[in-house]
Amino acid sequence: QAKLLGRDQVFYYEPAESDTSTSTYKIEREFLSAIENHEFYLEFQPIIQLSSGAITAAEGLVRWGHPEQGKIAPNTFIPELIKSGYMHKLDIYVAQKALDFIFMWRNLLAKPFRLNINISGAGFNSPNLMDVFNKQFEKDPLILQHLCLEITEQTIVSNVNDTKLTIDSLRKMGIQIALDDFGTGYSSLSYLHQFTFDSLKIDRAFISDLDDEKDNRIILDTIINLARSLDIKTVAEGIETLEQYQYLKTMDCACGQGFYMSRPIGMENLITLLEEGIQF
Ligand code: C2E
Ligand code: MG
Ligand code: MG
Ligand code: MG
Repeated sequence: QAKLLGRDQVFYYEPAESDTSTSTYKIEREFLSAIENHEFYLEFQPIIQLSSGAITAAEGLVRWGHPEQGKIAPNTFIPELIKSGYMHKLDIYVAQKALDFIFMWRNLLAKPFRLNINISGAGFNSPNLMDVFNKQFEKDPLILQHLCLEITEQTIVSNVNDTKLTIDSLRKMGIQIALDDFGTGYSSLSYLHQFTFDSLKIDRAFISDLDDEKDNRIILDTIINLARSLDIKTVAEGIETLEQYQYLKTMDCACGQGFYMSRPIGMENLITLLEEGIQF
């Protein structure tokens, strides 16, 4: 079935040329069979407590192990799934995978360890996703204390009232909520105190220019201080150099992730790092 779908046809979508209905139909078919065949899987990027260098969390990032094209990055297929209305199905699949991971490794995972996953706007307010967590809560609620959902400002903007209610019910179950890509969306500041976030992930745009742009340093300092005053934990994304790591540490940014410490890795490799109690 996958053979029907050339890479160009599906993943490099050009609205001007292609027949929308046909291409949507093909995406649906290929996506549904990929879900059925378990072609989607997670890689894990360690999240490090900057003061100690210890791994306190990991972000699960979805990949499509395509039978012919090999590993496909999420930015390639997620926009297509959003367009075709299937994104919530992938979110549910990823959530289930995350719960399975936590269940399987629960004896190894230290108390504060969290697995973060990304949830799209479509998924976040879907009753089917809430069902997954409600069922888990009835069955084995402690599993949920190891889970953190990352959402973006886009999700909030698309549906302010429902998002607020969803955040509240998830947090009551012990699930944490992180605001992802902070600083790249809209009206960031007003949402910070209207909503309850456990952590705030500072977009890597603010980290990557740290070395040479003084303005970015001022913005970064402001974000960290603001989060501190609101009692929200900061996580810096996209740390690529020792200098960036050290600067964030001196600024008392709580956690960070990035290629400097580790790229996203397979499950076995993450487990090895956790078993060894490695410190970066
Ligand atoms: P994100 O949630 O902001 O995830 C961080 C992205 O930055 C990941 O890309 C990660 O590999 C990359 N990254 C981490 N450290 C560095 C660094 O030091 N330098 C640079 N240049 N990049 C770094 P990835 O895995 O390609 O994911 C891209 C985006 O796709 C994610 O951004 C997220 O928005 C979305 N995504 C990934 N997995 C899922 C998923 O399971 N569900 C949903 N709804 N979205 C997902
Ligand atoms: Mg994320
Ligand atoms: Mg991010
Ligand atoms: Mg991003």
